[in-house]
Amino acid sequence: MKKAVQTNLFEGTKRLQMNESIDLTIQSIDAYGPGYNYWCIAWSGGKDSTTLATLVVYLIISKKIKAPKKIYIMYADTRLEMLPLYVAAQTIMEELADHGFEVQVVMASLENRFLTYMLGRGVPPPNNATFRWCTSRIKIEPMEKALEKLVGDLGEKVLMLTGVRQGESAIRDKRIVMSCGKNGAECGQGWFQETLPKSLCDTLAPILHWRVCHVWEWLKHWAPLTEFGDFSTELIAEVYGGDEAEEINARTGCSGCPLTDKDTAIDNILKKPKWQYLAPIKRLRPVFRELRKAQNRLRKTGLENSNERNKQRMGPLTMGAREWAFNEIIKIQNEINERAIIEGMPMISLLNEEEQAFIRKCWAENLWPNKWTGDEPTADTPMDTVYPDGSIQPLIQFGN
Ligand code: SF4
Repeated sequence: MKKAVQTNLFEGTKRLQMNESIDLTIQSIDAYGPGYNYWCIAWSGGKDSTTLATLVVYLIISKKIKAPKKIYIMYADTRLEMLPLYVAAQTIMEELADHGFEVQVVMASLENRFLTYMLGRGVPPPNNATFRWCTSRIKIEPMEKALEKLVGDLGEKVLMLTGVRQGESAIRDKRIVMSCGKNGAECGQGWFQETLPKSLCDTLAPILHWRVCHVWEWLKHWAPLTEFGDFSTELIAEVYGGDEAEEINARTGCSGCPLTDKDTAIDNILKKPKWQYLAPIKRLRPVFRELRKAQNRLRKTGLENSNERNKQRMGPLTMGAREWAFNEIIKIQNEINERAIIEGMPMISLLNEEEQAFIRKCWAENLWPNKWTGDEPTADTPMDTVYPDGSIQPLIQFGN
């Protein structure tokens, strides 16, 4: 149903500021857009990239900017999207299609998804310090591949529009950081801006200057209006905290992301009675955390013939740990879905049947990451210390 325009909502400075932000966006697109026949939008389903996608479409249909020959909107599906955001993205996709803008879903191949890579091949969960494999594998590389194919088909470079947003301070110091999680950024956004190959696309961040309060304003009050495109973007603002969203500015990413300590976004969701059936999802991160423990992983003895400096590094997940985590995740999925059916709410798909079968096949084939055989001891096994130069300090034995 089309909503009525609430004229009094936009009076005063807020409306003025919004119009200024939108004007700057128009100026930046006008300055760079006409140089390209084709534009792409990297859309993660989070607040910033949803703002970008809906705003650009609005600007085109309202003839405030000149459309290129075609816009390709690419939705990055990590398979671990927070369910309400995923549901919102599906609805917005239909609305974009109603406006004549098709969305291509971009997803990592079966073996490269977060859970299949971890539980199938046995690669431990990513961590902040040394081992951050997820963003590139599940977000950047699939987008790169899709882009490579598109540019190959088109035979020319495209302009990639990203939802990178740094607020006013960034405009001042003109820095774009590759940050995954600062200031409520969507994981991957900065990476899209910095790492997509320059041979395939040039990148532009048309909402770089937008303040977070304008993002909420757009999602909650502007985009849902008929005159701005009639998009169902309120749910996205609701996921981030509804009326408190301006203060919370929560970062979203994969459900259970092991790289953050707080579940701010999911905690906000769970405050709404209708989403409370998703509560078991809170058990995902503890599962990932458990998997990083020594008893669940293998370790090199240091006596192998290798040039590695860290000769006794901890490595992959044991088969037992993979199976344990797999069962825990299936339990979480089943618990949520049993309630979802009773309450008539959307079901979750953490591991679909194809992914489950793939993981089981990896186990049957005794699959290990490169340079590991599965014969190494578990990482909690007491052993002599082997230093980078190969010298050995024997294990101190206590006792009689
Ligand atoms: S949200 Fe977390 S788990 Fe997902 S890609 Fe980003 S850092 Fe990795």
